[in-house]
Amino acid sequence: MNAPSEDAEIAVVGAGVIGLACALRLAHDGADVVLIDRDAPGRGCSFGNAAHIATELVFPLASPQTLLSAPGLVCGSNSPLRIDPAYGLKAAPWLLRFAKSALPHNYKRGVAALSSLQSIAGEETRNLLQSANAESLLRMDGHLMLVEDARSLRRIERLRQEEKKHGVLSEWMEPADVAGLAPDLTGDIAGAVFYPETGHVLNPYSVCLKLLEAFEQAGGCVIKNEIDQIKTLTPAGFAFEGASGSVKADKVIIAAGAWSHRLAKQLGCNAPLEAERGYHVTAPAYQPKMTKPVSSFERNVIMTPLDEGLRITGFVELAGLEKPARQKNIEKLKSHMQALTPHLDLAGATSWLGHRPTLPDYLPVIGATRKCNNAFFAFGHQHLGLTLAGVTAAMMGDIIKGKTPPVDPAPFSIDRF
Ligand SMILES: Cc1cc2nc3c(=O)[nH]c(=O)nc-3n(C[C@H](O)[C@H](O)[C@H](O)COP(=O)(O)OP(=O)(O)OC[C@H]3O[C@@H](n4cnc5c(N)ncnc54)[C@H](O)[C@@H]3O)c2cc1C
Repeated sequence: MNAPSEDAEIAVVGAGVIGLACALRLAHDGADVVLIDRDAPGRGCSFGNAAHIATELVFPLASPQTLLSAPGLVCGSNSPLRIDPAYGLKAAPWLLRFAKSALPHNYKRGVAALSSLQSIAGEETRNLLQSANAESLLRMDGHLMLVEDARSLRRIERLRQEEKKHGVLSEWMEPADVAGLAPDLTGDIAGAVFYPETGHVLNPYSVCLKLLEAFEQAGGCVIKNEIDQIKTLTPAGFAFEGASGSVKADKVIIAAGAWSHRLAKQLGCNAPLEAERGYHVTAPAYQPKMTKPVSSFERNVIMTPLDEGLRITGFVELAGLEKPARQKNIEKLKSHMQALTPHLDLAGATSWLGHRPTLPDYLPVIGATRKCNNAFFAFGHQHLGLTLAGVTAAMMGDIIKGKTPPVDPAPFSIDRF
């Protein structure tokens, strides 16, 4: 890691995919940028995600539909959602805000806002990876959503109609066509929805490493330090203080994933951020037959063929930032994987827990604040951080320069809380 010789123009706190993408964009724009992380870059939530460029997800999870299914989601034994009993009270204020965001008029605004980001997310992902010489990691050739139970078909049809209204393309595939695309899926299925405009990367951690390499090549500086305190300096600028020393910069971008609210608070901004814990299992012995991600509508999981094996991800668990991974969830993911691909060899399979940074309206925070000059934010990308890293970086590049960003940042202001 480098050390800055003098005060930087911009400090980005957090070197996950969001911080890395913003830092690279700003360095390419000629800014003097320092990127600070307590850990090695890319080892947070960005390390082990499903690698899916999920541009079809235009509906925030805070929706009337989720509210209606809440009793089953909270109580169901096979539910993809779990609220740790010891954490229930702590999560209650966030859950109340979630319920408010899910009311029809708020949800409608959320759909419009998320769609505005998604409308250029594919293009900006390509731009971002090109700018890091990492296009070879990108596959924009779609994904399949399996429908295993014929009773789901009416819901699927309604979903596709709604998606179509927001410009999301999809095709229905009969079981025989699915077998042609993903021959290792041997279970009984009713069919699948094919989303041709989505994609995946071959390895989300490699994406982070390529962004880091490009950032350093562009003259960017990386510092390892856990920032405990951000001091606002007079007449301007900030000092970032942690166990490994202090750094100064004129401007700051908080991109510390699920930990961002702690730093935002020091800049006078409240963000009701929750960590949605999700898991992966990666089977390295997988002999690739699937060329695209395959999700399951009923199981709420997605499997992605990576350069290091087949990965399955899933679960939304509210249990805070400190608790260790829950073995039961990992076993459940393995059983889903075996049900979907019965011939898969799980020898040497690895598992992982990551913390999705999620705000109750399921919209990220991107932009400035009225409350603190020269402070900017890029966090809260929930299930979509990899997908939205490119568009977030493109917006941040313009916002910092005072130019009009490619997407209206108003719905993503931290001042909405
Ligand atoms: C199981 C799972 C599957 C997912 N699948 C997908 C997918 O397929 N597609 C998709 O688009 N998204 C997916 N996501 C979501 C995506 O991974 C996240 O939205 C994204 O990684 C968030 O990136 P980030 O940079 O904001 O946070 P992180 O990657 O967590 O980075 C934050 C960084 O901040 C650092 N930090 C925190 N506090 C401090 C401090 N005080 N001082 C210094 N450094 C600090 C941390 O060390 C960390 O490196 C998935 C998430 C999970 C859990």
